[in-house]
Amino acid sequence: MIDPFGRTVRYLRVSVTDRCDFRCTYCMAEDMRFLPKAELLSLEELERLCAAFIRLGVRKIRLTGGEPLVRRDVMRLVEALGRRLGAGLEELTLTTNGSQLAQHARGLAAAGVKRINVSLDTLDPERFAAVTRGGVLPQVLAGIDAAAAAGLAVKINMVALRGINEDEIDAMLAWCGAKKFDLCLIETMPMGEVEYRAETHLPLSAIRARLEQDWTLLPSSYATGGPARYVQVAETGQRLGFITPLSHNFCEACNRVRVTCTGQLYMCLGQEDAADLRAPLRASADDAALEAAIAAAIARKPKGHDFDITRAATARHMSVTGG
Ligand code: SAM
Ligand code: SF4
Repeated sequence: MIDPFGRTVRYLRVSVTDRCDFRCTYCMAEDMRFLPKAELLSLEELERLCAAFIRLGVRKIRLTGGEPLVRRDVMRLVEALGRRLGAGLEELTLTTNGSQLAQHARGLAAAGVKRINVSLDTLDPERFAAVTRGGVLPQVLAGIDAAAAAGLAVKINMVALRGINEDEIDAMLAWCGAKKFDLCLIETMPMGEVEYRAETHLPLSAIRARLEQDWTLLPSSYATGGPARYVQVAETGQRLGFITPLSHNFCEACNRVRVTCTGQLYMCLGQEDAADLRAPLRASADDAALEAAIAAAIARKPKGHDFDITRAATARHMSVTGG
């Protein structure tokens, strides 16, 4: 699958649910309305969809959401996709808030997952409860420990928020270093209407300059095909990534597309254009129409997003498309 700008699409992010047990302030509104369950693709349909993408050249799949581990029986999908590792699929990963990791970490590892991303914006229990609107930090930390014990490589995703956790970035870097986790800092992106976003937006260029006063940040050629730019932290031996959608445009090397839990294929996180894959998926047991719909959509993948922090670039919340 090669798009009009010559980028080969090898990476699929699949949102398996729009639901979540948290309501992070930058991600969701407090009174989020979720989709009726009947609109969701079944786990079998999601697997069929992933199989079609693998046939068309996708090599890496990341399950996300909403919170992927709150979808009932999601491990059935993880196991089914895990069986495709080495048979077209090269990597299966997951982005999670960690709340359900304690019970699923071993199952994920057994299914062939090697690396996971866990979102963790603060190590302070009260702040954590405030940012997530009700999350319980010790539960997440226990999940992270379980993941590490199961042999999963953990990368921590921290959304940098002005006035909320900007004073904790050093502490998080040190904590990740001690645990042998990589850390990725993320700038807020304008997705969906939520409160206070422009006020909490924190440009990572300033954070990086500040960190460089206390840490030795060495250039790194490490790249995951994702939007993060990495450095190596000499003091800890771990990597530190920066995802800066606003202050640094990351689109030129974009190799990914996203499917929502209702089967909408988004060619760009920051644009509204989507292709409905649920209709061709349900219209026939034969995958020809589905594959044709995917190919037609890739042919109109846009050059990039046009985010602007003062307005929502999309009406969709991040939890709908999957971060
Ligand atoms: N629930 C899972 C989690 O939190 O990891 C997976 C889905 S969540 C939408 C994926 C990632 O998107 C998380 O790291 C979250 O912090 C990030 N995210 C959500 N809304 C965002 C926004 N408006 N700007 C930047 N990152 C955002
Ligand atoms: Fe849920 Fe993840 Fe969004 Fe937080 S960032 S509300 S954990 S989907």
